[in-house]
Amino acid sequence: MSELTTSQHFIGGARVEPASGEYFESTNPATRRVLYRAARGGAADIDRAVTAARGAYEDARWRDLSQTRRGRLLRRLGDLIAENAEELARMETEDNGKLLREMRGQLATLPEYYHYYAGLADKIHGDVVPTSDRRVLNYTAREPLGVVGAITPWNSPLTLTSSKLAPALCAGNTVVIKPSEHTSASVLRLAELALEAGFPPGAVNVVTGFGGEAGQALVDHRALAKISFTGSTATGSRIAAATAGRFVGSTLELGGKSPNIVFEDADIANAAMGVVAGIFAAAGQTCIAGSRVFAHRSVYDDLLERVSDRARSIRIGDPLDEKTELGPLAFEGQRDKVAAYVDIGRGEGARVLTGGRSTDGGLGGFFYEPTILVDVDNSMRVVREEIFGPVLAVMPFDTEEEAVRLANDTEYGLAAGVWTQNLARAHRMAARLDAGTVWVNTYRAMSPMSPRQGFKSSGAGVEHGTETIKEYTRLKSVWINTGEEPVADPFTMRS
Ligand code: NAD
Repeated sequence: MSELTTSQHFIGGARVEPASGEYFESTNPATRRVLYRAARGGAADIDRAVTAARGAYEDARWRDLSQTRRGRLLRRLGDLIAENAEELARMETEDNGKLLREMRGQLATLPEYYHYYAGLADKIHGDVVPTSDRRVLNYTAREPLGVVGAITPWNSPLTLTSSKLAPALCAGNTVVIKPSEHTSASVLRLAELALEAGFPPGAVNVVTGFGGEAGQALVDHRALAKISFTGSTATGSRIAAATAGRFVGSTLELGGKSPNIVFEDADIANAAMGVVAGIFAAAGQTCIAGSRVFAHRSVYDDLLERVSDRARSIRIGDPLDEKTELGPLAFEGQRDKVAAYVDIGRGEGARVLTGGRSTDGGLGGFFYEPTILVDVDNSMRVVREEIFGPVLAVMPFDTEEEAVRLANDTEYGLAAGVWTQNLARAHRMAARLDAGTVWVNTYRAMSPMSPRQGFKSSGAGVEHGTETIKEYTRLKSVWINTGEEPVADPFTMRS
């Protein structure tokens, strides 16, 4: 038997043993083969990483670096990601079971995150503000925050980490990342590439480990200036409560139960394809999964037939195989959770039209068939709760009004899809849907250039675009008396 690789934390530009000396195993979910042992981080490791990040933040090599040079480092990091794309794509496929072809697609666009924020780095500035007394100069400055903590999930580790890392560095912060315990490898490699790109040691640190240990310690660290979190609504809510009392800013990207609404005037073939991609891509393990479909009653049967035919023909298997269309769930517990939800649905009276069984995919892994539930309604748990697996609930509607009401009847508000050829209806729906992202006649489109936000229990704060820079900076207002005399009688000064 070959020796297992052991990975340490990445702190202050070097691989660092965990303080506890403990490691945990990461498994390939397609084969159940143990891939490597990762350092089990705790409060001592987090403290070491935050101290390294604080040191780097205060170090003149980082603090005094011009914004142009900061941009150049980001550009170089993007280039290095492109040069190492295949290695990074394979790492994630082996760690979380995502299709290699999807990962190759993600890696082809990942450098854009760094290139986009490279271009923005020298465009962050404050303004000169008019005053009522011309002798007084008032200007604002946009300053970095300090040490940013980034906590990320397992479903797209590099992309979701980059949504935080690129703007945080762009704005002049330093970062401590706590990746998911299920996917440590690619994020550790990313931190090495940041060092290679020229970011000073300590600018990017990674502490691996479990949420309740390393994650909690990072959230609770007193020297943290901000926490940026992507993950479940339950964890996000815990983090919001923990940071609120300390007035530490948080950006939260959380769960979803997104509707895909198909009108009678839609191009049905297109809509069916969008529905399939919306829920079965990445085996449904995306925050934006279109897990609820509302179809106009006149096209309900047609749509359902097309979607279920395609679902039955989806090729399940080895995610490294280019022909595979559905890989495993990322770990055993997630597969079990999906199976349990389908059983809950059966108990609630839902009918399993297709799928509904676990399988080992012929490889001994944690697969679950593409599953469609019908005879469902908004009162059922399978319709209300995020399953995060390849399980779709399909319901009919009669009027546009009803479609809006049913789609918005959820605690979540991450995304929504609308399928119609009626332009006026498309705009009406975009305006009335309670979701941070609305797609019309497409689904899953996303870009680092496009700001996005989860509504309701799907999040707080904005990621991507120029907007997110506000989340990683603080605004300072500076007043200068440029005259020789006192500006005003202190007792009459307005505040
Ligand atoms: P999770 O909340 O269980 O874990 C996310 C991260 O938080 C992990 O790194 C975990 O170790 C850490 N964590 C867990 N408990 C913690 C605690 N008490 N303190 C600090 N950190 C803690 O989520 P998950 O299962 O890894 O990911 C799936 C979830 O992520 C789904 O709900 C999905 O919708 C959501 N997600 C959202 C987006 C988005 O952009 N809105 C994108 C991807 C995934």
